[in-house]
Amino acid sequence: MKSEMIDGKLFVPDEPVISYISGDGVGQDIFPVAKNIFDVAVEKIYKGQKKIVWEKLLAGGEAFEKTGDYLPEETLKAISENLIAIKGPLMTPIGEGFRSINVTLRQKLDLYACVRPVEYFAGIEAPVKRPEKVDMTIFRENTEDIYAGIEFASGTAEVRKLIDFLEKELDVHKIRFPETSAIGVKPVSSEGTKRLVKSAFDYALSHGKKRVTFVHKGNIMKFTEGGFRKWAYEVAKDYPTFTQLEYLKIKAEDGAEKAEEAKKNALSDGKIFVDDVIADNFLQQIVINPQNFDVVATLNLNGDYVSDALAAQVGGIGIAPGANINYQTGHAIFEATHGTAPDIAGKNLANPSSLLLSGVMMFEYLGWQEVAEAIKTALAKALRAGKFTADLGGKLSTSEFAEEIIKNI
Ligand code: NAD
Repeated sequence: MKSEMIDGKLFVPDEPVISYISGDGVGQDIFPVAKNIFDVAVEKIYKGQKKIVWEKLLAGGEAFEKTGDYLPEETLKAISENLIAIKGPLMTPIGEGFRSINVTLRQKLDLYACVRPVEYFAGIEAPVKRPEKVDMTIFRENTEDIYAGIEFASGTAEVRKLIDFLEKELDVHKIRFPETSAIGVKPVSSEGTKRLVKSAFDYALSHGKKRVTFVHKGNIMKFTEGGFRKWAYEVAKDYPTFTQLEYLKIKAEDGAEKAEEAKKNALSDGKIFVDDVIADNFLQQIVINPQNFDVVATLNLNGDYVSDALAAQVGGIGIAPGANINYQTGHAIFEATHGTAPDIAGKNLANPSSLLLSGVMMFEYLGWQEVAEAIKTALAKALRAGKFTADLGGKLSTSEFAEEIIKNI
């Protein structure tokens, strides 16, 4: 049966249909083993009471070979109906006129939240001394900002027209080199911001997280990034929160001691502390004091930098999972965040951890918490014991690594 979104709540049957796209390149190495691990974990936990009904969909190279289309309409239609999908990496076709299949999927299904949890797994070599201090979930806006991709190339008639318009109609005279400039435009809306920030708060509440931080460059881009900050604080009012703005107000009126006391009381009442940090400062803070942050809501470009920087900090860039979700319609695509790794594809060498952890996110989303925990614990145990594939300095093949995990479930 299909999962359904009813009145903003996801209903998952005992035998939900989950769409899957194995992916190109190493997708063919990692998907079968990951799918097997998912099935083993579900069977172990629910003993036949619940199971995934897998529906294979085509996208990428395999789709092109079979249908002449990199992203067949049926694939989109099936995900649209089934709500939930998991995928391996897809190659981006080379050549003008081809859009990234991943980006197309996100846009067609309006998957506005890119969710990237980052945590350290003991055993993995990390470039910082205390990687275990990192435990954060990034909510990166997925439909606006630079993702909207509005750009005009230098020297074109379009850019000339736009620059003329800016100069003549809007009295803009600060373009330093108008004759040779390219122009990019970034839309950031209150609707786009609010739905993203709302999902970050819902996640914080359902996962018992204590702090939500908005990351922006509102000091420079006052109406786009500054708008994000303003609208994000408006959303905070709808949740049990104590914000930095309230803290500063009390501090200005009654002094620092009272402000600290109010904060302490709010937190002991179970309220979420909400603050905002300018993006450049945030990139510093996550290196120096990562333990201070929990859930992060940010715009598209900042989120891109922040998620990769954090994943690198825990040595996990190759194993970081991700999901693209529309919490209003329920549509969600869980995915390995790495690419197709053509250099090792088909050699049974690839690390399936990113896909496995995306699966962990998927089971959490389904409400099958026990399965999520079983897989994550089994993976963590293998990594802690130094059972690694070659990318992490080990000797195990993809299938040997998968066997280790299955032994731990
Ligand atoms: P890549 O992630 O495929 O490879 C970068 C390096 O990481 C390579 O050395 C590769 O061997 C290694 N690597 C990646 N995944 C690994 C795994 N699971 N186990 C072990 N090592 C792994 O990046 P790329 O080479 O820039 O991109 C190749 C193709 O993938 C391109 O067509 C690109 O567009 C596509 N891509 C897809 C996605 C996606 O589907 N989400 C993401 C990034 C890139």
